[in-house]
Amino acid sequence: MTKFTDGVIEMKVAIAGAGIGGLALAQGLLKAGVEVRVYERDPSPSFRRQGYRIHIGPVGEQALAAVLPEVVRRRVIETATHPGDLVAGFDPQLNQLSERTFPIGGPDSITSVDRYAFRRAMMTGLDEVIAFGKEFASCGVVGDGVEIRFADGTTEVADVLVGADGVGSRVRAQLLPSFVVHDSGIRCIYGKIPLADAVRAVAPTAFLRGFCFVNEGVGAGMAFAPVLFRTPPAEYGDYLMAVMTGTAEQLGHCDDELFAMSPSELWGLVGKQVADWHPAIRSLVDSADASAAFAIALRTCTSVLPWPDGPVVLLGDAVHPMLPSAGAGANTALWDAARLTSALTGATTLASYREEMLAHGMAAVTESLENGKRMFDLRIE
Ligand SMILES: Cc1cc2nc3c(=O)[nH]c(=O)nc-3n(C[C@H](O)[C@H](O)[C@H](O)COP(=O)(O)OP(=O)(O)OC[C@H]3O[C@@H](n4cnc5c(N)ncnc54)[C@H](O)[C@@H]3O)c2cc1C
Repeated sequence: MTKFTDGVIEMKVAIAGAGIGGLALAQGLLKAGVEVRVYERDPSPSFRRQGYRIHIGPVGEQALAAVLPEVVRRRVIETATHPGDLVAGFDPQLNQLSERTFPIGGPDSITSVDRYAFRRAMMTGLDEVIAFGKEFASCGVVGDGVEIRFADGTTEVADVLVGADGVGSRVRAQLLPSFVVHDSGIRCIYGKIPLADAVRAVAPTAFLRGFCFVNEGVGAGMAFAPVLFRTPPAEYGDYLMAVMTGTAEQLGHCDDELFAMSPSELWGLVGKQVADWHPAIRSLVDSADASAAFAIALRTCTSVLPWPDGPVVLLGDAVHPMLPSAGAGANTALWDAARLTSALTGATTLASYREEMLAHGMAAVTESLENGKRMFDLRIE
């Protein structure tokens, strides 16, 4: 697939989706001298609410080191959070039920990022590469390459198209029409609690050290995790990510009601759920930026499927959507991006990328499902 002329790679790669995996792939390919263009549906980089914390483990950290040019890697490190050293569980009255501590890495270690700040850092140097407001609609093989059709009626031609368009991937829908994305039945309400001094004073120490979950057994519960920036984005500062999870029954609202709620109504619902919890938790919930709340449905696949041979390939959530219960989705998308960079630059092949990705992606999906079954009242057959 890779075409070389006098040692130079002669190939144009189109990427649908400027998410975590698509941006990492674009950086890796550009570093290797490949012509690349990223087509993103959102009209701008700051279009959606996406300021929540993402845990980055060694798999993601190694992939970032492999694909990013040094100037971009420095930007990612600078905008990452100070590393935490704790995962702990509590009951709603803040009695501690479990604790695991971890060694804190060196000054360049990345253990978690704010999704918005991370994407902005990963966009460093890509101004001429990313086209915003370009929604992939369909594609067709033409000669050795692929024609890409966009929702605005325009078309582009590339040698390879990478579907990095996330859990609802339209590239996947065309390539693998039998692929099933299951609804787990679990809903999350995400919120942000800005860490003003008065809030830091009431926050339990553990909540500022690492990932803490609070629940009354399997089912509805809340998680808190600090985002303490090395360098904050211009738009906001340090915050505590707060997430309520539960089924429709546990949250007391069906999807039609939940997804029609305004941010402040969603946060009001969280306030009701914690009304008889420890006063420190109630105080934190009361201190949130209610306008930042949003709800999501947790979805997953149960098998990762191979796509047919050809110039269209998949990466990240597009091919292995998974529950966030292993903190692995972004890390696996980054791993894919590093492996696909090697395949598209001739170090390996697209067939070996697909084979390795199937095994690695499936292992992450399985771990997320197993964790999810322990943590939530899952309804996946
Ligand atoms: C609340 C939450 C918390 C999470 N926490 C963690 C965590 O701690 N650790 C972890 O590893 N993972 C975590 N994940 C998972 C992680 O965010 C995803 O696995 C990761 O973003 C996948 O990257 P991706 O590039 O495949 O897709 P995405 O990052 O979803 O990017 C897809 C991109 O494609 C664009 N797009 C969609 N359709 C089209 C189209 N038709 N045309 C053009 N563009 C399109 C989208 O706008 C988006 O920018 C979390 C997920 C959620 C929702």
